[in-house]
Amino acid sequence: MPSQHAILAPSASKRWMTCTPSARQEAKYPSKDSVFSREGTIAHALAEFTLNYFLEEKAVYVPEFEVFQKRMRQENPSLLLDLTVQCTDEGFDFWDIFEIVYNNYVTIVYEDFLNVKKEFEDAELLVEAELNLKSYIPESFGSSDAVLIYGEILKVYDLKFGQGVKVEAENNTQMLCYALGALLGPAELNGIDTVQMTIIQPRLQHISSWSISADKLIQWATYELKPAALKAFNGEGEYVPGDHCKFCRIAPRCRACALRATILAESNSEPSELTDEELADLLYKLESIKNWTSKVEEYALQQAVSGHAIPGWKVVEGRSISKIQDQQSAMADLFSAGFEKDLVCKPVELKGITDLKKILRPKGFEELLGKYVVKPQGKPTLAPVSDKRPEMNNIEGDFNNVIL
Ligand code: SF4
Repeated sequence: MPSQHAILAPSASKRWMTCTPSARQEAKYPSKDSVFSREGTIAHALAEFTLNYFLEEKAVYVPEFEVFQKRMRQENPSLLLDLTVQCTDEGFDFWDIFEIVYNNYVTIVYEDFLNVKKEFEDAELLVEAELNLKSYIPESFGSSDAVLIYGEILKVYDLKFGQGVKVEAENNTQMLCYALGALLGPAELNGIDTVQMTIIQPRLQHISSWSISADKLIQWATYELKPAALKAFNGEGEYVPGDHCKFCRIAPRCRACALRATILAESNSEPSELTDEELADLLYKLESIKNWTSKVEEYALQQAVSGHAIPGWKVVEGRSISKIQDQQSAMADLFSAGFEKDLVCKPVELKGITDLKKILRPKGFEELLGKYVVKPQGKPTLAPVSDKRPEMNNIEGDFNNVIL
């Protein structure tokens, strides 16, 4: 996997295409990795290793992870040893990550390849395929997790290991960039007609695919991507706040975000009521404003704690709750004082589903406990009409059993 970052990375394309000056501004701040990004890097390394392992015919593909795991335990390849040590240092469960990646990404991509191979003998599966975006995005480089080329079809796969939000492939600029880079790169000579983009989020049980013709992809790249990329590369254009600010490194100090939040605060102080349309517009904006305000607080606290004073603010000790430190001794004293266990101790409680799945592995969990799992109805939540979930129907009484 590439460790360097391009100024205009496809993964941030939504941001720099919408707010073109952001890329140059962000480049002034170092990018920080997080526990989530480090876990994602390990997951990607395992995905790459495993797909190549089968492609290089080091062993016959098996769909069962347990069989593959046994083989790996015997072979102990050096990369896996390194990753195991990394996982131990980080407190990650190596085999847990490997099983998730194997069952929910490797099998999908590799079985797609095997199926296609039956009809197209010269089908090619490329792992970490190098992208060619240079005629549309200045100084851009990168690779796609997996690319499958057969006949006039190009398929691009993207593994997202995080547990945040579900991401859809439709009109996703990051996926469009990957597709374009693969179309002009490894698939350049294949006369591709259709491009399919697939996002796989194993830990959210989410797969999203979307297709576009190669002609439309080039049109998008020519009329939307390239002009925005040139502006972004030159640091030109307007600052435009929105949902895309979520991971922007300058967000806590962004004047455009601050101005937008202030304008909303002022409009709220008007004596007249908001119309339904204004309320709808406000709801769209509030999510990203809430996200931004918590970033500002977090950033300012970090600055203050590290000695950079924020005028009019100081660091104080937050509230804390008293607790009994030595629970065993406290219990012993209570029992010797004649108190019954049931009276002073909490009842024994089963661990959560995530922890139990780690202990039993997903298959064992399903076999042993699947029959006890229920999913209670969720509370009504407002979502934009574009949300994939079906609408709850008040008339038929969907809200009857829910407490707001
Ligand atoms: S935080 Fe500011 S600079 Fe970054 S994308 Fe949002 S508006 Fe643009």
